[in-house]
Amino acid sequence: MGKIQMQTPLVEMDGDEMTRILWQLIKDELLLPFIDLKTEYYDLGLEYRNETDDQVTIDAAEATKKYGVAVKCATITPNKARMSEYNLKKMYKSPNGTIRAILDGTVFRAPIVVKGIEPCVKNWKKPITIARHAYGDVYKNAEMYIDKPGDAMLVFKGEDGEERTELIHHFDTPGVIQGVHNLDKSITSFARCCFNYALDTKQDLWFGGKDTISKTYDGKFKEIFHNIYEAEFKEKFEAAGITFFYSLIDDVVARVMKAEGGFIWGCKNYDGDVMSDMISSAFGSLAMMTSVLVSPDGYYEYEAAHGTVQRHYYRHLKGEETSTNSVATIFAWTGALRKRGELDQNQELIEFADKLEKATLSTIEGGQMTKDLALITSLKDVKVLNSREFILAIREKLETM
Ligand code: NAD
Repeated sequence: MGKIQMQTPLVEMDGDEMTRILWQLIKDELLLPFIDLKTEYYDLGLEYRNETDDQVTIDAAEATKKYGVAVKCATITPNKARMSEYNLKKMYKSPNGTIRAILDGTVFRAPIVVKGIEPCVKNWKKPITIARHAYGDVYKNAEMYIDKPGDAMLVFKGEDGEERTELIHHFDTPGVIQGVHNLDKSITSFARCCFNYALDTKQDLWFGGKDTISKTYDGKFKEIFHNIYEAEFKEKFEAAGITFFYSLIDDVVARVMKAEGGFIWGCKNYDGDVMSDMISSAFGSLAMMTSVLVSPDGYYEYEAAHGTVQRHYYRHLKGEETSTNSVATIFAWTGALRKRGELDQNQELIEFADKLEKATLSTIEGGQMTKDLALITSLKDVKVLNSREFILAIREKLETM
């Protein structure tokens, strides 16, 4: 049988450490034997980023704008220790941050649900996808410690000379103050990303804020979501049979705990930071989370939610055996291949992505898994495989399909 053909290349962003090892194994064993894989390759491994003064990261993001779909391996974000380890010219920024700044957009994270790895919340039957607004709020704040009596004021100085002030608090005793901001433009693009992704994946969209208390700030989020929904998405949602609903964040949290899953939960920046960790740990593990950056212009970048699994890599370098979970990286590839297939109307490619995901899940459900999953599974007869054996076991399943 001939290999599956592709019309348009994927933007392939290679990465670092243990995930770079998995990346090659996945390509060699699970993709290249079945697909005539077309990619435009960018090496985002730290050594090459250093060689190119990080230009390669910018080029990869620009290529994503050109082709529309990218798949990214986990990469090192340099810190002090990495400066000497890799003899870096400078402390480069996080590649994910650089790419997000160029593409704009929202990161959607969803757990990969598999029998035998049950969520702690027993009524969660389907994945809950978190969409985190990754701009502003407390992450771009200005803070002050107040150590003497006086008035703390909120001041806006217009370039036209107008000045607006509001009393935050009159301090008699020491305390703290904080100023945060957000932009209509960023909230608008976040809202569009959420609505588009809900349509794309045919899931309801929930969004929560605290507009009863924060009438102007959270009220603006509520208003923008409402207006965009009414003007651009209401009819499309009705046609797709999905719903959008806004409620107070505390009400949303209470409903999430009682729900079945299978929806997208749009979160303000801080809520998304906190709730995505709750969701991933409740569903099992970071190695079982998909992650995709969706830009408001319709570009997609798929990756695993976890990092480069540094500890395993050092063991691998010493020639020791590793049992690193490749599921999230495999799903980054299947997500990108499926999206490419959809955009190019390439049914074979879409079916292949579905099959590879099924083969991966049924390998685990059949009791063959990596160590991290073996530690939390409810399955009995479990066989712990090393990094390579696990990928080979998936290939065996895939070949029978
Ligand atoms: P990590 O996700 O690599 O590891 C965190 C913990 O989870 C470790 O205990 C690890 O053993 C475990 N773990 C994660 N993925 C696993 C997998 N697939 N199989 C088995 N166990 C797994 O994060 P870290 O240790 O904080 O960071 C390591 C490097 O990754 C850092 O240099 C950091 O900059 C980078 N990082 C990159 C990304 C990204 O590119 N998206 C995200 C986070 C961290």
